[in-house]
Amino acid sequence: MHYLPDAGRYQQMEYRRCGRSGLKLPAISLGLWHNFGDSTLLENSRNLLRHAFDRGITHFDLANNYGPPPGSAEENFGRILREDFYAYRDELIISSKAGYTMWDGPYGDWGSRKYLVSSLDQSLKRMGLEYVDIFYHHRPDPETPLEETMGALDHLVRQGKALYAAISNYPADLAQQAIAILRDLGTPCLIHQPKYSMFERTPEDGLLEVLNQGGVGSIAFSPLAGGMLTDRYLQGVPQDSRAASGSRFLNSDQLTEEKMAKVRQLNQLAADRGQKLSQMALAWVLRGDRVTSVLIGASKTSQIDDAVEMLANRQFSEQELEQIDAILV
Ligand code: NDP
Repeated sequence: MHYLPDAGRYQQMEYRRCGRSGLKLPAISLGLWHNFGDSTLLENSRNLLRHAFDRGITHFDLANNYGPPPGSAEENFGRILREDFYAYRDELIISSKAGYTMWDGPYGDWGSRKYLVSSLDQSLKRMGLEYVDIFYHHRPDPETPLEETMGALDHLVRQGKALYAAISNYPADLAQQAIAILRDLGTPCLIHQPKYSMFERTPEDGLLEVLNQGGVGSIAFSPLAGGMLTDRYLQGVPQDSRAASGSRFLNSDQLTEEKMAKVRQLNQLAADRGQKLSQMALAWVLRGDRVTSVLIGASKTSQIDDAVEMLANRQFSEQELEQIDAILV
């Protein structure tokens, strides 16, 4: 059926400036790492995208290797884009990335200019786009000079194939160097995409400060720790959950008794605040305004609703923050 977005979509979302750039991102963004490959029914993926946009989520995050198989998330997204979102391209921020293994041989991985330029060309073809809004180097490459990798991002922006350059998974010291190189090239780094959640606090050890000082935005990936920081696993492992899907990133071995004890305490604290654990976990990442956007995944439209409804209850008292710290140690 022809898709007409909800006319009230921009009233429900908060849009936050990304670092010192001119771009604003929704406080909640949707990632297509899971649930957009060929193993998911296209209609489910379509519903998720429509629902997200209806709720004011204007940013969809992809990468060359999302699937399975690698590349299929971009292909499926491209099809939905053509069929449903064609008239709304200018209302969307679409990102892609290159940095992990994508094709055979020495040019389909890591951070060479050869890989980044070829990979973005492939991504654009798969999505049927002339440009992406944000293009990321997906992970640091210990062997390629940072100048070459950042030079490739600058080149792609100057070619008009990406509007903004970005980095992901860079530790604080390398991020600082990358930001300086991009600034010198005249293509400032728009945003960094680190893994950040109650269960993964490494960005607090310097990275968020580097980004703040550099005027670079941040978008936290896996803010729900893949679903652990929700009520999903409180009564065991549901059949339709990520942990039951054979994922190597989240499986039942990781749901240890120690971890689940923390989840139960956090869940109680969230209930005391009158919200779901998933909502408290997202609000916590956004606390203090150091993070521009939380980048969630979703397998159901109700999960998108949970995230958006979090925005109504985002404040923490000092005491609540201390209680959370005490649970997390
Ligand atoms: P999350 O931590 O948000 O986990 C999402 C999963 O949590 C969902 O698929 C769902 O799992 C569960 N969930 C979400 N909301 C709820 C809810 N309200 N109640 C119960 N369960 C819920 O993020 P992801 O790990 O999916 O990562 C998000 C995005 O970040 C990716 O799509 C990708 O764009 C990006 N990313 C980037 C990486 C990088 O290296 N730059 C690496 C990894 C991710 P279920 O399927 O069980 O329902």
